[in-house]
Amino acid sequence: MPDPYNVDDLLGGILEGSRPHVARAITLVESKLPAHRERARELLKRLAARDQHNTIRLGISGVPGAGKSTFTDALGVRLVDDGHKVGVLAVDPSSSRTGGSILGDRTRMANLASRENAYIRPSPSGNHLGGVARATRESMLVLEGAGFDVIIVETVGVGQSEVAVSGMVDTFLLLGLARAGDQLQGIKRGILEMVDLIGINKADGDGEGPARVAAREMRIAMKLISSATEDRIPEVIPCSAYTGLGLDELWQAVLRHREGLEKSGGIGERRAQQQVDWLWSMADEEVRSSLRSSPAVGAIRADLEQQIATGHLSALEGVGQVLDAWRSDVVDGHAGQLRL
Ligand code: GDP
Repeated sequence: MPDPYNVDDLLGGILEGSRPHVARAITLVESKLPAHRERARELLKRLAARDQHNTIRLGISGVPGAGKSTFTDALGVRLVDDGHKVGVLAVDPSSSRTGGSILGDRTRMANLASRENAYIRPSPSGNHLGGVARATRESMLVLEGAGFDVIIVETVGVGQSEVAVSGMVDTFLLLGLARAGDQLQGIKRGILEMVDLIGINKADGDGEGPARVAAREMRIAMKLISSATEDRIPEVIPCSAYTGLGLDELWQAVLRHREGLEKSGGIGERRAQQQVDWLWSMADEEVRSSLRSSPAVGAIRADLEQQIATGHLSALEGVGQVLDAWRSDVVDGHAGQLRL
C-alpha cells in the first residue's frame, strides 16, 4: 500500500488543489504521533516557503446560538460565487468532551459544503487548547497552499480560544445578538479588545428593529471602551444570515480593515509578529505541561501544599522546592513528553 503521508506526494497534490491531498495533509498535521509530527514539519516548511500574504484570514466568534455556522454558510457561499476559494476551520477545544464540534454537523453549512470551491473542516479533537490551536494554524497553511484565499476560523465565544484565534487571523469578527441590555455583559471585555468588527445578527423579521437598536448601543459602547488615542474603533453592522442583509457590508468592512493593516506595517509584519507570539505561547505551554506532569513535583506536592497552607513554610520557600524537584526531572528526562 502506498504511503499516505509521503511529503512529496502531499505537497504536489496540495499545490494542485487536490481535495483528497488536502484532507490527508490536514489529518497529518492534526496527528500527535512523533513520526507524523516530523513529516508535518517538513511539509509545513515547504509550504511556508511560498508567499501567502494575499490570503484573507478571518476569525469569527460569538456565543453558541449567535448564528456563526449559518452566517459562515451564507457569507461563504457569497464569496465562492464571487470567485473566492473558501476554507472553514474551527477552534473548539471542548469538542472532544461534547463528542462533536461546533462544525461537526455539516448539515449546518449544507450550502457551502456542497460547493466545489469550499472546504469545511471540523475542529480537531484534542483536550487542550494549545494542540487544537496548533492543528488549526497548520491546517490554514495547507489550505492556503491549495489556493484557498479566504480562511474563516470559527471559535465558540467563551474565552481562551478567542485569544488563540485572534493570534492567527488578520481580522476578528464578533457576532452578537440584539438581546437588549446584556450585549456587553455576556462578552468578556478581553474579547471585545481583540475584536476588529462586530455584526449584530438575526436582523430579520421582528428582529430587525432590535438589532438596529443594539447596533447603535454597541457603537456607543465601543467608543467608550476604546481608548481615545485608538484610531480604529470596530465598526458595528446589523446583519442577517437568513436574508443576507449586511453581509456585503460586513465583507467590505473586512476589506477596509485589511487595507488599514496594509497601511500600518503590512499584513506580513502582523503575521510575522503572530509567529513570534506563537513561539512563546507554545514554549510557555510546554513548560507548564512539563511542570504539571513531573513525577518529582507530584511526589512533594501534597506535603508542600499542606506545609504552606498551615504556615510552616512560605510560598517563596516552597517555590524553590518545586523548581528543584522539576529541574531534577528535566535533567533525568522524566519531565513529560512534548505534547505539541
Ligand atoms: P452557532 O451556534 O453560533 O453556530 O449558531 P447557529 O448557526 O447554529 O444558529 C443558531 C440558531 O439561530 C439556528 O436555529 C439558526 O437557524 C438561527 N439563526 C442563525 N442565523 C440567523 C439569522 O440571521 N436570523 C434568524 N432569525 N435566525 C438565525
